[in-house]
Amino acid sequence: MFKTLIIISLFLLTACSSPADVQDTRFIMGTLVKFTVVKGGHDQDDVEAAISSAANEMQRIEDMFTIYGKHPNAVKSFNASMPNTPIVLPDEVNQLLERSLSIQQQSNGAFSPVLGAVNLLWGFSGEHPPSAPPSADAIRVAMPAAHCIKKQPDGSGLHKWSRTHANCQLDFGAIAKGYAIDQGIKILKAHGMQHAIINAGGDIRLIGKHGERAWHIGIRHPRKQGDVVEALNLQGDVSIVTSGDYERFFIYKGKRYHHLINPETGWPATSAQSATIIASSATLADAWSTALFVQGQQGIKLQNHLQQKVLLIDHNGKIYGSLKPNPDSH
Ligand code: AMP
Ligand code: MG
Repeated sequence: MFKTLIIISLFLLTACSSPADVQDTRFIMGTLVKFTVVKGGHDQDDVEAAISSAANEMQRIEDMFTIYGKHPNAVKSFNASMPNTPIVLPDEVNQLLERSLSIQQQSNGAFSPVLGAVNLLWGFSGEHPPSAPPSADAIRVAMPAAHCIKKQPDGSGLHKWSRTHANCQLDFGAIAKGYAIDQGIKILKAHGMQHAIINAGGDIRLIGKHGERAWHIGIRHPRKQGDVVEALNLQGDVSIVTSGDYERFFIYKGKRYHHLINPETGWPATSAQSATIIASSATLADAWSTALFVQGQQGIKLQNHLQQKVLLIDHNGKIYGSLKPNPDSH
C-alpha cells in the first residue's frame, strides 16, 4: 500500500499515493518540484511547514544562481562585469563555483560552468524555446576560453573573481538544481523529517524509506515514452540525477538539437541520449550526469574511478552500466 513508483523526469507509471504521505508540488528552477514526506508520527501541519521551508530554500537558491529573469543577483553582476576587473562573490556562489571548477577539471572540460553566453544564445531555458539553431558564426563568437575565470588572491577573506573576456559567463544550470535539492533535504531533516523524497523534474534525492518498503524509482527510456530502462528500490540517502536529450530539444531539418552543450564546440553533445548518476549528493549527481552525457562511453571509466554508479544510453541507444545495488552490498 505504500508503493509509489517515482519515475525520473516526472514520468509516472503508477502512483498509488498513501494517506501516510504528505505531498506538495511547486514550480521552482523551471521545473515541477515534487515533495513527498512520510508523515510518520508528525502532525500534518508540521510536515507541511517543513515542505514550505524546503521549497522556500530552493527558491532562494534559484534566485541566487539564475542567469534568467530581471531580478539582479551576484551571478548576473559577474556576467556583466568589466573583463579583468575582480568582483566579490557571496560565500555560497563562491563555494558552488569552486566545486564547479573542480568538476570541470576532473571531467576534462566536459562540464563547464562558463558557457553562459553560449547557453543564452541557444535559448533552451529562455522564455521562448528555440525552433532552429543559432548560426555557426554566432556560436563561435559566444564561445569562451575554457579557463577564463580567475580567482584573485585576497588576504581579506573576500572571494574576488574576474573574467578574462566578455563571453566568459557563469551558468550554474547543470549543478544548481542538485544543490537546491540538497539544501531542500537539509531543511526537511532540520524539521525532523526522516523519510522523504524531493523530485525536481527527475533529479532526485531520497532519504529513509517509504513506509515498510524502499522508495521505488524508474529510469525513463530516452526514446520510448512510457518505457522504463531500469526500476530501482532505493533507501537510506541516495541522490540520482539524469541528463537527457529529451528534456529540452527541438527537431530542425530532421536533426535533434538539445540543451546539453559540448564545451569544445558550442553545439549539442552527440555521444549520448541520457546519462544517470548516483552520487553522494544531488549536487555531485547533477554536475556529473551532465559531464557523463557530454563524455559518453568514454566517461564511464572516470565514474568507476569515482565510485559513482552510472546508467548511460549512448547515441545509438546502447545501454551501459546499471544503477542496481550490488548483490553483495547489503
Ligand atoms: P542538466 O539538465 O543538469 O544536465 O543541465 C543542463 C543545463 O546546464 C543547460 O540548460 C545549460 O544551462 C547548462 N549546460 C549545458 N551544457 C553544459 C555543460 N557541458 N557543462 C555545464 N553546464 C552545461
Ligand atoms: Mg546536471
